[in-house]
Amino acid sequence: MRWRRNETDLRATNSGYVRVFVNLGRRLYDLQQLDLRLEKTAEMLSRVEHQLNHNEALEKAKSDLEAIQRDQAALQERQQAAEHAVDDLHAKLRPIQQKLFAGSVSNPKELGAMQQQANQIKGHVRVEEDKVLDMMGQAEALQNAAAAKAADVDSIEREWAEKSHELQAAQAELMAALDSDRMMKDEILAQIDPAHLQLYEKLRQKKQGHAVAKIEQGRCQGCKITIPVSELSQARAGELVQCGSCSRVLCVP
Ligand SMILES: [Zn+2]
Repeated sequence: MRWRRNETDLRATNSGYVRVFVNLGRRLYDLQQLDLRLEKTAEMLSRVEHQLNHNEALEKAKSDLEAIQRDQAALQERQQAAEHAVDDLHAKLRPIQQKLFAGSVSNPKELGAMQQQANQIKGHVRVEEDKVLDMMGQAEALQNAAAAKAADVDSIEREWAEKSHELQAAQAELMAALDSDRMMKDEILAQIDPAHLQLYEKLRQKKQGHAVAKIEQGRCQGCKITIPVSELSQARAGELVQCGSCSRVLCVP
């Protein structure tokens, strides 16, 4: 498929402007390579930015530490409740024991009942004290776990400080590369006929970014079909020729 005869451009030289031959296929190929590079750079930038905004290891360590701290707070509440229960039981036991030791109760039946009540309370005290002891053990284990996790958070944060510097440097570099490629693209676009650009964009969408194919050993590198001699010579002459098989614009390297 042919488009138009050779285009020429004015190019500045030492002796003034001269008309230079423009190879349409190659110009679109240059645009395609730039577009592919722009896409790749934008993708790398988005990966770097994702990494900058999501430090999963740090987030996990912090949330683990918070979970341990919540467990510690809940345990502390239960331990205080058990300790209060022990205090209350002692407060109940004290007057009974005072009476018993004072020997002021002489009625054996009353004495027996008081003794039984005191024993019952002592039994409850033991149960509550066992609970407190058990919870003290749990508190110690949680304390150790919290200290270990806090150390993890610290070490991940130190590593992250270094890593995020590297990522920020990479981000700046990629952003600068994007800016310069976008400027270069604007320059190329200004030199391309709008109809050719429209064709390029249409093919680019259809061919996953590869609108232009090089001709190598007489074959279209997009679909590997042999290009007829007449079209080959048109492409060599710089005309815009599309592959009869895959429709890509052909470029002579
Ligand atoms: Zn082809």
